[in-house]
Amino acid sequence: GIRIEDLHLSFGDTTVLAGIDMEIYPGEFFAFLGPSGSGKSTLLRAIAGFGPRPKGRILIDGKDIADLPPWKRNVGMVFQSYALWPHMTVRQNVAFGLEERRMPRAQIGPKVEAALDLVGLLHLAERMPSQLSGGQQQRVALARTVAIEPQVLLLDEPLSNLDAALRVQMRRELLSLQRKLGLTTIFVTHDQEEANTTSDRMAVLDGGVIQQIGTPQELYDTPVNGFVAGFLGTAN
Ligand code: ATP
Ligand code: MG
Repeated sequence: GIRIEDLHLSFGDTTVLAGIDMEIYPGEFFAFLGPSGSGKSTLLRAIAGFGPRPKGRILIDGKDIADLPPWKRNVGMVFQSYALWPHMTVRQNVAFGLEERRMPRAQIGPKVEAALDLVGLLHLAERMPSQLSGGQQQRVALARTVAIEPQVLLLDEPLSNLDAALRVQMRRELLSLQRKLGLTTIFVTHDQEEANTTSDRMAVLDGGVIQQIGTPQELYDTPVNGFVAGFLGTAN
């Protein structure tokens, strides 16, 4: 699991994370909801090791990773802007992270194919990113991260560019993959229904502070303050 202790992060005089304390259990599917600018992406990036080093501690399975570089954290992240390498094919994009980790070549091919198959894009493996739709690029980004088989999966609105039907399908596939691999997963979304239907627990973030954390049921049934009630639309 992941343990976050007293995490603070500021850009200049703007405080973006204002004391985050929380725990995400092993194998849990955890969702973050919150308004634009509330610090969701910043928190995920801090866990993944991108951006300035926050104050506080980030522990994965009891080990403080806050000073490790991103590639040594055993964490895979799909970014909100999922930039693929423009000069590489889909296949090469997915293989890249495995090559970087010095996986033997004979193992890379099958892993890449399995990851592409998972997102339904094996037939487009030789295309360049510029020849894909936004949603297809997003699925390549997901395949690229899943292929490295991280211990922790961080997903920053990974389905936001998909049409409604594909979104529901991908959500199911993501969840079944997550369960199969027992991947501890943090999922940021704007879509409340998505958070409700996927997550074991969720948190509402505002102003860099966790307003409430619990099961979807708990948050909807007993919001702790007006902000959570209003944000989740449960105010009467
Ligand atoms: P969204 O839902 O729009 O993606 P978010 O919750 O992911 O929003 P963040 O991207 O974490 O929000 O940003 C939180 C705040 O931090 C915003 O006010 C943003 O302008 C600010 N911020 C983020 N990155 C930087 C940076 N590199 N330099 C300065 N300010 C930043
Ligand atoms: Mg964001």
